Amino acid sequence: MAADAPITQDLVTIPRKLPEGGKVNLVGLTRDALREALIAAGTPEKQAKMRVNQLWQWVYHWGVRDFADMTNLAKPYRALLDDHFQIALPEIVSKQVSTDGTRKYLVRIAGGHEVEVVYIPETDRGTLCISSQVGCTLTCSFCHTGTQKLVRNLTAGEIVGQIMLARDDLDEWPAVGTGTGDAGPRLLSNIVLMGMGEPLYNFDNVRDAMKIAMDGEGIALSRRRITLSTSGVVPEIAKCAEEIGCLMAVSFHATTDEVRDKLVPINKRWNIETLLNALREYPRLSNSERITFEYVMLKDVNDTDADARRLVTLIKGIPAKINLIPFNEWPGAPYERSDPARIRKFADIVYKAGYASPIRTPRGEDIMAACGQLKSATERARKSRAQIAAETGTA
Ligand code: SAH
Ligand code: SF4
Repeated sequence: MAADAPITQDLVTIPRKLPEGGKVNLVGLTRDALREALIAAGTPEKQAKMRVNQLWQWVYHWGVRDFADMTNLAKPYRALLDDHFQIALPEIVSKQVSTDGTRKYLVRIAGGHEVEVVYIPETDRGTLCISSQVGCTLTCSFCHTGTQKLVRNLTAGEIVGQIMLARDDLDEWPAVGTGTGDAGPRLLSNIVLMGMGEPLYNFDNVRDAMKIAMDGEGIALSRRRITLSTSGVVPEIAKCAEEIGCLMAVSFHATTDEVRDKLVPINKRWNIETLLNALREYPRLSNSERITFEYVMLKDVNDTDADARRLVTLIKGIPAKINLIPFNEWPGAPYERSDPARIRKFADIVYKAGYASPIRTPRGEDIMAACGQLKSATERARKSRAQIAAETGTA
């Protein structure tokens, strides 16, 4: 067909005009944005809702990437879509598989930047740890990502694209024409926003991406299977409850402002008390379950019995579980992991106070895929060991 030949479909003639400025990526558009984009490309308004539904199912339910394969759309309409849009994902540059089955993907996004994505298989679930930013503006002193300056926020398409890439790699899209769930438990059943970056500093894109992931006609992960981890961006916490409604984890890590100021410097802006007040509201606003308090175990820094007791006193009244994370080392890190016996004692005090206190088993350590070890090797904006020490007062 000539490029300017009109398209006739459902008795409506759509003038065929090619877009200026390249094709729009459909991945990452919310339903509303997709509708607008389809209308702008010439889809009659009264058809737009149906077209959104059809495309949504192809892209997010069956994982199809080529308009030509969308067999319930008339051929001329597929051609129109192909003229205006693309279905583009970030690219997997490399994949490493740990001896424990953990998979780490290095993913390249536009501009040549890279982020890491980790898939953690467990007996009853499979969790994908996704990134929200390249690098991080925050400088938590125990975190490898924190030594890498923020390069940029990921787009919604790049965030949901990580989930889609993992489903490709796990070969987990339902066969065209079939529904979800018939094949038994899902390999990719849970999402944690615990990769690189502070998700609440990229709120709109994270929200749009999670809305897409939660949409029942597509990837269809329930909001209770998505956990967003924040270092404590207090003003965004209520917004997260209202606009996303997923589960919340908070990087707590210390029981006094003095120590938390050093470990999680955002504490200087919003201290422990302010943070806890925001968290008290969260389950009510989001209708969600318990909040996960993440607590990295750093030898002689935050791991005493007194810390454990202060922790349970501080969070009294908040439905919570406490996730103890043995510190994962990275080259030049200014801390050591607490001894296993110390971690167990700490866990015991927390448990006896009535809180679940799982100790997170480090996964994928042999491929540097464990919590806080992520950092794209090609982004070498690394701070020196001396700089980290100076900022944290650990010199
Ligand atoms: N920026 C968000 C999410 C990413 S970090 C946040 O800070 O919450 C995910 C979790 O891993 C956080 O609890 C973080 O504090 C923790 N973490 C970071 N570095 C770590 C390390 N080296 N060892 C263990 N946990 C670490
Ligand atoms: Fe950023 Fe989270 Fe690492 Fe802190 S722990 S530097 S907020 S990624």
